[in-house]
Amino acid sequence: MLSFCPFPVCMSCSHHTPYRGRFAPSPSGDLHFGSLVAALGSYLDARAHQGQWLVRMEDIDPPREVAGASVSILNTLEQFGLCWDEPVVYQSQRHEFYRDSLASISANHACYGCDCTRKMIMQGGGLYQSHCVDKAVESLANPHSIRFNNQQGLDHFDDRLHGRVTVAQDFAQEDFILKRKDGLYAYQLVVVLDDIDQKITDIVRGSDLLEVTTRQMTLYQYLEQPFARYLHLPLAVTDNGLKLSKQNHAKALDLQNKRGLLIDALSFLGQKVTHEYQDFTIEQLLEFAAKNWSLKTMSKQAQIISY
Ligand code: GLU
Ligand code: ZN
Repeated sequence: MLSFCPFPVCMSCSHHTPYRGRFAPSPSGDLHFGSLVAALGSYLDARAHQGQWLVRMEDIDPPREVAGASVSILNTLEQFGLCWDEPVVYQSQRHEFYRDSLASISANHACYGCDCTRKMIMQGGGLYQSHCVDKAVESLANPHSIRFNNQQGLDHFDDRLHGRVTVAQDFAQEDFILKRKDGLYAYQLVVVLDDIDQKITDIVRGSDLLEVTTRQMTLYQYLEQPFARYLHLPLAVTDNGLKLSKQNHAKALDLQNKRGLLIDALSFLGQKVTHEYQDFTIEQLLEFAAKNWSLKTMSKQAQIISY
């Protein structure tokens, strides 16, 4: 039986899979306004589709992590009423799954070892030119990275907000890294393995990941899995155009002003904000915002924000 999606601006009603969305923070610091926007946007889109919303902690890169950030992010989400529907998945606990998945990609000869240095790649113009594709593993210096042998790189996709997004051919065809020289799994690999494994149907996140979406979809295609739908939200940037982040000294969220911050995040996302919101509880506010969730008034531009 076909189910009817009541969501007025839903552009994906041709799919009748149940909606499963996620927020996937890296614990490199506390939540800031930019990550609140991403969390809120993915949460509201899931709720507007009567979907499930999951949280996955992308703690796959210990050198970039800050002690205590995972706990603090989860606490902050809870304080903002952003409650997830299944136990949090931690990438740091899934190394075996990544190892086995990469082993089967390797068994299919779809990846290869590369010991090129960053300097060599920069000298060649910055994009990697499959230099090591035919090298025997024994001939490689150790340590070396593992690259995807990218035969059918996708150069475009359709985003629910941005429409057709196209990337440069050489970017689309680059043999990107699946496992880094330092032994850590690359974000591009594990994000796809986990989104598939968790049966995520809808990926809603910041527009800083627009371009690399083509790489992630290239992996879906290689793995013969149906693509997720994508919605890339406007990005909060500093006045010199940098993504709001811990490194750019984004201010910590003031938990005394949760309602105010949620209202600011909603208007950042182009959502209708009324005076009534001032009297709402956090729960009422989220419920109301989910009911009225719309992409029609959402900006496609990155926006300067002074938090
Ligand atoms: N962990 C990534 C980040 O915090 C986001 C991954 C994603 O949403 O696909 O930038
Ligand atoms: Zn190489």
